[in-house]
Order: sequence, then structure tokens, then C-alpha cells
Amino acid sequence: MKVVIVGAGLGGLACAIACRREGIDVEILERSPEIHEFGAGIQVPPNGSRIMREFGLLPQLLEKGSQVQDVHFRRYKDGRLLRTMPCGDDITEEYGTPWVIIHRVDYHRILHDEAMRLGVVLRLGAEVTDISTDETTALLADGTIVVADVIIGADGQMSSVRAAVLEIPVSPVPTGDMAYRAVFSREQLEGLNDDSINELCQKVAVTSWLGPEKHTVFYPVRGGQEFNLVLLRPDNLSSGARKEQGDIDEMRASYADWDPTLQKIISCVPSVYKWKLTHLPELKSWTKGSVAILGDACHPTLPYQAQGAAMAVEDGAVIGKLLGSLQAHILKPRISGVKPSQSTISSAQKLTAEVLALYEKNRKERTTRNVQAAVKNRQLFHMQDGILQKIRDFVLSYAGVTRKTDWTWVLSSRQSQTYGWDVLEDCGKLFEYWKLSIE
Ligand SMILES: Cc1cc2nc3c(=O)[nH]c(=O)nc-3n(C[C@H](O)[C@H](O)[C@H](O)COP(=O)(O)OP(=O)(O)OC[C@H]3O[C@@H](n4cnc5c(N)ncnc54)[C@H](O)[C@@H]3O)c2cc1C
Repeated sequence: MKVVIVGAGLGGLACAIACRREGIDVEILERSPEIHEFGAGIQVPPNGSRIMREFGLLPQLLEKGSQVQDVHFRRYKDGRLLRTMPCGDDITEEYGTPWVIIHRVDYHRILHDEAMRLGVVLRLGAEVTDISTDETTALLADGTIVVADVIIGADGQMSSVRAAVLEIPVSPVPTGDMAYRAVFSREQLEGLNDDSINELCQKVAVTSWLGPEKHTVFYPVRGGQEFNLVLLRPDNLSSGARKEQGDIDEMRASYADWDPTLQKIISCVPSVYKWKLTHLPELKSWTKGSVAILGDACHPTLPYQAQGAAMAVEDGAVIGKLLGSLQAHILKPRISGVKPSQSTISSAQKLTAEVLALYEKNRKERTTRNVQAAVKNRQLFHMQDGILQKIRDFVLSYAGVTRKTDWTWVLSSRQSQTYGWDVLEDCGKLFEYWKLSIE
């Protein structure tokens, strides 16, 4: 079996590794002329680090990243601590794998290096302009046609593979929010000579300030030598733009009445981009024939659960596991040793399409729940001052009542489903069930 993956983002690389680990030939088509990832931090929650452990990459993740020790929620106006949730070993004990913060470039590099080690072929500067779902081929901008048994569109929010799967282009729609993203050095923060900032810099913690219509997230990366800051607020990008150069004064003014400590941190940001945060309407399908889409190509989310990449990586791992099982338990025994007839090939294509439909079945509910939960988090995080906000702060202050690692006890079942669910075991069961149905 040969799988062609469009896009070498985190989801595409995870899918490539998962497929190669099953002995499947993999070629990635990446339009960028060089391997890249955006220069910012990323949180890898336990369900994401579980896949890294499955790939044997947890030591590398922990070497380049850090295990989050605490999550702090603060009031926007004065920085008052609403709640500290212990993470650290409590999270690992409960979910089996740690919560990690890491620089995106380092995370991407770990996945890239593993994909190369396993023999994935990476074609850079290869922009896919069209997909034939009938022929299972990808047309590149230079006219080359790449033939595959399976094509996976891991080509992000503006996916061209999605248009082929759905037979019509479906564009992302604005969520109404945008993000400013910045990374700066420890020296810049220490240069402020501020005790409260120096104290923050000592912690391996994710700190969030919650305020009306906005919130912010701050944490260290690269062993505390750099810090990641994300500021989330109502969108004011031009319509149609996905990313624009931000205006520093506008950014500072957006947080002018916020905690003075946060304002000092913001003063370190030298220049900034702003990103429109978008969603997709519900898609009628993620697969057509032997072509499927994953990650942001099918379920982009508000980043208010730190789950977008974790879900993309899970998608990739599930696809690899399902295609590997199909190859090992069904196709190989039927095909090996003989030149396959046309009818054998057609039957293999039909089975492949069915297995990709299993992938969609396995993943759609979980990822949809994630997208919806991120929207619910927006309501919780961005409350106007008033009675509801007071109730939220009260509830938040009792987080951890049911279990040490609960963020908000009322949502604890949602949290365990997101972090604790073993998606590979689940898809293994689904495959066995399907296999019985075709035998
Ligand atoms: C502010 C912010 C903070 C976030 N924080 C977190 C977090 O803490 N934790 C988390 O898990 N997630 C987080 N996310 C979400 C996460 O970044 C994304 O969900 C994830 O990166 C999506 O990965 P992907 O591989 O699906 O797509 P992408 O990363 O978009 O990769 C797509 C790849 O496809 C290539 N490509 C596109 N079109 C073509 C084509 N036609 N031909 C060939 N190649 C093509 C692109 O060049 C790119 O390399 C955050 C997002 C934002 C905006």
C-alpha cells in the first residue's frame, strides 16, 4: 500500500509516522520549499502525549519540552489568583502521560526527524492543485501526477483535498475571535526588573488571565529561556484575511485596563501578527473513495482547549492503525504471491474506502465534541463582569474538589473523556468489529 499525505504539518507528520510503523510506503507532498512550523509555543495535553508515547517519542518530547506543573487562572483586572490547578505528576498519574509545553518548531522537528528515520519520502515545494478521488491521484502545480492507493489531506484549514472530497469548496467561517501570538526571551522579561514577573518566570506553569470578551495565555518554552504569549480577543481583521501584521499600539490598548503585570509582559512584544480564528460548518463527509482529510482540514477549532493539534495527531495515528490493520489482516493474505486480478484490486479499493469511513466514524464525534467544548470555554472565559462571572469564579475556586486534577468540577467528565480516552484501543475494537462483518 502506498499512502500519499498532502501537508507536512503536525497532523500530516503524525499520520506519516503511524503509517510507516505499519510498514506502509508513505510520501508527503508539502507545498512549502522548506520544512517549517510557526514560531510559537504549543501545549501537548495528555491525549497528545499518549500518541507520542505510542510512537516512542515521549523522551524526545520531554527533553525539548517541559511538564506543566500548574495551571493558574487569574482575574483580568488585578491578576488575582482565581485558582491554581496542580498538573505535574498528578496529571500523569491520572491519564498515564504528561501535559507538556514546548516550542512548536521543536515539536515539529521531533515528528519530522522520526518520519525521516522511518523512511518517509518528503517532497518539498510540491503544491497540490487537484485531487482525483476516482483515480486516487494528486496533481501538482508543476504538472506532475502522483499516484497512490490512499490520499490523506492534512493540508490545514484552506485544504484543497477537502474540496475534492466534498466536490465543492467549503470555506472556513470566522468565529468572531482573533489571536495575537508572540514569543520573547527570558532576558527581555528579566530586563523589566519586576518582582511579580520574575516570580512568574520561575514557574513551569500555564497562566491565563480571564476577562470580558478576552483572555490571554502565557507559558515558558525551551527550558524557560523563551516565553509564549497568546492574546485572544474579538476579531478585527479585514474580512477574508487569515493573518495580518498587527499594530502594537492597538494590541496594548486592547489590554489597557488589565493586570499591570500582564501589561508589562505585553510591553516586551516587539512586533506581532494577528490571526483570524475560524471554524468549518458541519461537513457532510471526510472521505470519498480512498481519499480522506484530517486535522484542521476537517475540524479546526478555537484554541480554547489546547486540543487542535492533539486531535490532528490522534487522527493521523488512527488512520495509520486502521490502514495497517487492513493491510496486514485482510489485503496481504488475499493478494500476496499472485499478480492481483482487476476484481481483486477493485475489492481492495472498496475495502480501503470502508476502512477510511471507519476512521471518520471513529473520529467525528470526538472532534466535534472538542470544537463545541472550545466554544463553551469561550463563554466561560470571556464572561462580562457581573453575577455569572462571580458564580464562575466561585465554581472555579472549588475546582479539584472531585479529583485533584479537575479544572472545573462541573466539567470533570468532559475532561476525562478528552484526556483519558485511548483512541487507538477504541479504533482497534472498531476494526475487529468491521472485520467480522466482512468475513
Ligand atoms: C493561537 C493558537 C494556539 C493554538 N494552541 C494549540 C495548543 O496549545 N495545542 C494544540 O493541540 N493545538 C493548538 N492550536 C491548534 C493547532 O495549531 C492546529 O490545530 C494544528 O497545527 C493543525 O495541524 P494540521 O497538521 O492539521 O494543519 P497545518 O498545521 O495547517 O498543516 C498543513 C500543512 O499543509 C501544507 N499545505 C497546505 N496546502 C497544501 C497544498 N495544496 N499542497 C501541499 N501542501 C499544502 C501547509 O504548508 C502545512 O504545512 C492552536 C492554534 C492557534 C491558532
